Amino acid sequence: MSEADCIFCKIARGEIDAEMVHDEDEVLAFNDINSKAPVHVLVIPRQHVANLEEIGDLPDRVVKRLFEVASLVAENLGVTEGGYAVRINNGSDAGQEVFHLHLHVMGGKRLGMP
Ligand code: 5GP
Ligand code: ZN
Repeated sequence: MSEADCIFCKIARGEIDAEMVHDEDEVLAFNDINSKAPVHVLVIPRQHVANLEEIGDLPDRVVKRLFEVASLVAENLGVTEGGYAVRINNGSDAGQEVFHLHLHVMGGKRLGMP
C-alpha cells in the first residue's frame, strides 16, 4: 500500500472528507465512518506507517503525541470519566483493514474484550 493509495493518507491530505475532531501538525483524529460505540474516533499520524512493525519510522514525539491526542479527544468528547478503550488492530488476525497505523478510541458504552 503506497501513500498515494492509502485512504488515511488521502484523509490527511484533505482528498477524502472525514469528520475531523482534532487536527494538528503531525497527528489527526476523525470519527470512524462505521462507528461501533457512541464515541469511536481514529487517531493517526500524518506520516504513513503501516503498522507497529514500522513504528520506529515515526519520531518519538509523534508516538507519544498519538496517545496524548487519544486522551485529549476522550476528554473533549466526555468519556474520560466513564472510561474508554484505545485499541490497535495489527495484522490480519486482529482484523486490520487499513494499513496506516491508527488508534481506535472508543467509549460511551460498556466495552468488552476482544
Ligand atoms: P482497522 O480494522 O484497520 O483497525 O480499522 C479501520 C477502521 O477505519 C474501521 O473501523 C473503518 O470503519 C474505518 N474506516 C475505513 N474507511 C474509512 C473512511 O474512509 N473514513 C473513515 N472516517 N473511517 C474509515
Ligand atoms: Zn497512509
